[in-house]
Amino acid sequence: MTEKILMKTPLVEMDGDEMTRILWKLIKEELLLPYIDLKTEYYDLGLEYRNETDDQVTTDSANATLKYGVAVKCATITPNAARMTEYNLKEMWKSPNGTIRAILDGTVFRTPIVVKGIEPCVRNWEKPITLARHAYGDVYKNAEIRVSGAGTAELVFTAEDGTVTKELIHKFDGPGIIQGVHNTDKSISSFARACFSYALDTRQDLWFSSKDTISKKYDHRFKDIFQEIYDAEYKEQFEAAGIEYFYTLIDDAVARVMKAKGGFIWACKNYDGDVMSDMVSSAFGSLAMMTSVLVSPSGVYEYEAAHGTVQRHYYKHLKGEETSTNSVATIFAWTGALRKRGELDEIPALCAFADKLEKATLDTIESGRMTKDLALITSLKDVTVLNSQDFIKEIRKTLEAML
Ligand code: NAP
Ligand code: MG
Repeated sequence: MTEKILMKTPLVEMDGDEMTRILWKLIKEELLLPYIDLKTEYYDLGLEYRNETDDQVTTDSANATLKYGVAVKCATITPNAARMTEYNLKEMWKSPNGTIRAILDGTVFRTPIVVKGIEPCVRNWEKPITLARHAYGDVYKNAEIRVSGAGTAELVFTAEDGTVTKELIHKFDGPGIIQGVHNTDKSISSFARACFSYALDTRQDLWFSSKDTISKKYDHRFKDIFQEIYDAEYKEQFEAAGIEYFYTLIDDAVARVMKAKGGFIWACKNYDGDVMSDMVSSAFGSLAMMTSVLVSPSGVYEYEAAHGTVQRHYYKHLKGEETSTNSVATIFAWTGALRKRGELDEIPALCAFADKLEKATLDTIESGRMTKDLALITSLKDVTVLNSQDFIKEIRKTLEAML
């Protein structure tokens, strides 16, 4: 038996809910604790404990992430009316992801996990395409009016000193609709910095797209902020790393993405990112085969799975029925966090372990041993469908053989 890998700084561990909470425990027991002297500062974001602490635990976990720099998060329930009665909640607590994002000021990067046997629908995609979505403003924080009949619509801005700026929107001669949207230089700047840092970190080209030819002030401001920050802070580093940043129109980007080989980051405004990330992820195969990391401009990282708590499987599990829930995204949340911790603390053995665990996970699938969701879409023949626990145990066997 070789020595366990030692850690220096603890990871911020955010436990979660339902089926993913069960996977979380299994992953730790089978794939991490036997090999790593795992150091974590544990926060229980399971809905019961969030309710017990009036959601203070969520805020505490985000602040701990600011302190230590790297967190790993299990999927959590965002309460709705049904959860109020199911968990007897004091309040309909906010989405933990929303609370954490507001504190860390981040951008979310989502990347498909590519494996042989799960082929993307787009034949020429050889490498993953990472979507970077700006998560503030635009149509997600809009003001809307349904116009009842003829009249004049204007944009009005009143500065603090009382100066008024007006712009005619439209003179209506009948009913219609109006929408007001905004963004801030501050939010766009931190989005840009998160994208540039992430591109450097992963040594991939960065594309940014919007519609500045039509939106000559709004989208143009995004384009300018990206360019100014790139020229002032990142250009030299990009050149040294041999990677490229370029801006292109959203319609040109869409056309190019379809013809590309992959292996780059595509930064999108909030709405474009919402739509395009669902397109890219489903074209690559499955939400359970997707990594997700929140990166803050200050260099703080939070790794998670892109999917939810897989409620339907959890209820089967509670009834004593067998489940076949895919743990790949949750495993990769751990490996992402461990590798980042290893890089920051200069522990090569920890980075190497993260690499091996990812390889063992993919090798297991490529050998034909997988969960049901993948078995349904794989091009591999002679597939063995495993239950939730056995899939993790098979990964451990593959890992043991590698170590
Ligand atoms: P979900 O957990 O993503 O699951 C939706 C469906 O997708 C499942 O029923 C399952 O399909 C399939 N699926 C997702 N992940 C899978 C996996 N790892 N392995 C196999 N199949 C998988 O979404 P939901 O059931 O709509 O939401 C459940 C809870 O998750 C909600 O309370 C929601 O608030 C929360 N949520 C949390 C996050 C987060 O923390 N990041 C994100 C989204 C949702 P089949 O049933 O057909 O097998
Ligand atoms: Mg969406």
